[in-house]
Amino acid sequence: MTRLTRVYVALISVAGCALAAGLVATANVNATYTTRAFVVLAGLAVLGELFPIRVPFRHEAQEITLSTAFVLGILVTFGLPAAIGVQIVGSILSDAHLRKVWWKALFNVGQYALAWTAAGLVVVLVNGGPYGLQQSFTLVELGLVVLAGMAFFVVNSTLVAIPIAQVTGVPLLTYVRRDFGFQASTALVLTSLSPIVIVLANYQPGLVPLLLLPIAAVHKSTRISLDKDFQARHDSLTGLPNRFAFREWIEQTIEAQSPERLAVLIIDLDSFKEVNDTLGHQMGDRLLCRVADRLAEQFGDASVARLGGDEFAIAVILQAGEECSALGTRVGEALSAPISLEGLLLPATGSVGAASYPDDGENVDTLLQRADVAMYLAKEQRTTFEMYTIERDRHTTRRLSLLGELHHAIESSELVFFYQPVADIATRRIVSTEALVRWEHPKLGLIPPDEFVPLAEPTGLIEPLTAYALEHALRQCRTWLDQGHEIGVAVNVSVRNLYEASFASKVGRHLALARAPAELLTLEITEGTVMADPIRAASVLDELHTMGVRIAIDDFGTGYSSLVHLKRLPVDYIKIDRSFVMNMENDDDSAIVRSTIDLAHNLGLKVVAEGVESAHHWEMLSALGCDYGQGYFIARPAPPELLDLSLRTRRSLHVSQSAEVRAISS
Ligand code: C2E
Ligand code: CA
Ligand code: CA
Repeated sequence: MTRLTRVYVALISVAGCALAAGLVATANVNATYTTRAFVVLAGLAVLGELFPIRVPFRHEAQEITLSTAFVLGILVTFGLPAAIGVQIVGSILSDAHLRKVWWKALFNVGQYALAWTAAGLVVVLVNGGPYGLQQSFTLVELGLVVLAGMAFFVVNSTLVAIPIAQVTGVPLLTYVRRDFGFQASTALVLTSLSPIVIVLANYQPGLVPLLLLPIAAVHKSTRISLDKDFQARHDSLTGLPNRFAFREWIEQTIEAQSPERLAVLIIDLDSFKEVNDTLGHQMGDRLLCRVADRLAEQFGDASVARLGGDEFAIAVILQAGEECSALGTRVGEALSAPISLEGLLLPATGSVGAASYPDDGENVDTLLQRADVAMYLAKEQRTTFEMYTIERDRHTTRRLSLLGELHHAIESSELVFFYQPVADIATRRIVSTEALVRWEHPKLGLIPPDEFVPLAEPTGLIEPLTAYALEHALRQCRTWLDQGHEIGVAVNVSVRNLYEASFASKVGRHLALARAPAELLTLEITEGTVMADPIRAASVLDELHTMGVRIAIDDFGTGYSSLVHLKRLPVDYIKIDRSFVMNMENDDDSAIVRSTIDLAHNLGLKVVAEGVESAHHWEMLSALGCDYGQGYFIARPAPPELLDLSLRTRRSLHVSQSAEVRAISS
């Protein structure tokens, strides 16, 4: 609270309380104060203070205190001192019940005293004083009651709005304008209730409890609708605001506060999926709750939200000189320590992307989308934090929209598989094929796998993609078997597939479904990814190997393999990366090819050379004792029905110029 606000609060408190004390002290308490009507109205007023009705307004709970209607009744019937006296008692009881700090309670008393005095002045000015007990109202008198009620509301709302506007930084006029409709309509409802209560209290106080029934009903229904409103706007697991509420918070903050700058951060946990898959949903849920706690602790609940799955978001108004990257660092720090659950230490780190208002976007949609782009960049580059930049976006946006469509593509069979033969160099026969995915995009044409497979990897989409590849390749394998060709199929899998505990049994199901022997299936996994954490992949690979499935290390030479791990993992083939094979004229590269072949043979592994583009390559590989070759020289990847006839009929390869002529373009 600023100094100015403090002075203001003190001023209102002192002035109002002094006024109230003076009025109450000089009031002449007469017999009417003991009438049933007074007791009933005063009792209702105090009850109204103690049980305010909470109603949802702009998704916040707003309070309506019915006591206003009753105090207004007291004011026009018995005069200002009586009204202020009752109001003060109610207000103090209610504040004590809510354990409000003393100065707030004092401010409330002061503010009420001033506001009721304004209403009392209207009564004196128009009528010369209170009406006393009466059993009917003329139209003019009704008008006076409404006028007095309005005077109370205007003064009261303004007195309260001033410090709130100062504390929240929302300009007073904006605040008043925003709440005006709500305040005015409540004021009208409450003031028009007042004459009814007055007449009733005078004429037939016994009927007053009947008035309480509909009030209680309203009480209950607003509570339910508040609860519903809360549920609709919060994530049930973590209790954080959901995407809907988050978007609205940003929208309203921009509209009402027009901040200089506002940062929007999106956080996606790095290894949530693995936790969920290996340890179960319950552990996954608990991990999410703990992450939510940490973020809320670091940034305060108001601006932290869960967007869904393992995605969180934070919105912060940036102070002058404050940088987005500092927020990224704070997220990194909040999540850096692993979370301990049931004796396990689980990683909680995430990839964070940020976009800032107004530089990167002026509305909530653009901001969220751009923070998302930045988050994907962070994921891809394995950095913790990335800020949105337009240059990198051009590239990313197309790919992100592709990612959005990929799910649909898998379901609607837009993904097709080309097969590329692998030939035995000694016998010149085609022994196997590799299934290579392509996306037949309805608008963009044939999209190569390099453009969308890396996108699917960090998301959950790699699972259905691999499942689809397995299904397709094994069905093709079965077709060839039925035609009398024993040709193996190789499927590329992501290391993320291997982190899934049930992966081997899934592969087993695909084999059974296609009635294909496990020995004809090879799973290819790139060297770089499997060697990053070989122990973790080992158990699933062992299981697969025991089933009879062959394992190949793909793109060998581009990662850093440790011999120890290579020996320990159940590997059957090594595929030398095409970059070395294609450049075998170069001494260094031919040395790499030669030593890789020797190394593999010493470990009892077979070698496949990728990227065999010419007869010259073929001859060199043959001389080096390489086992298998794959490349444009043998055949380009092609749809299965267009595969070279030599595959289907003679299954032998005639190394000649015509091989390249026969090659089918991919
Ligand atoms: P990869 O596993 O190394 O596949 C071999 C790539 O080299 C293929 O590219 C193939 O068309 C290309 N290639 C084959 N012979 C030659 C040659 O003689 N010269 C040259 N310059 N290139 C040759 P493609 O089909 O574009 O696949 C690219 C990568 O996409 C694959 O690399 C693989 O890592 C990934 N991929 C393809 N299909 C799938 C899939 O179904 N699942 C997964 N997870 N990844 C896949
Ligand atoms: Ca491959
Ligand atoms: Ca490869």
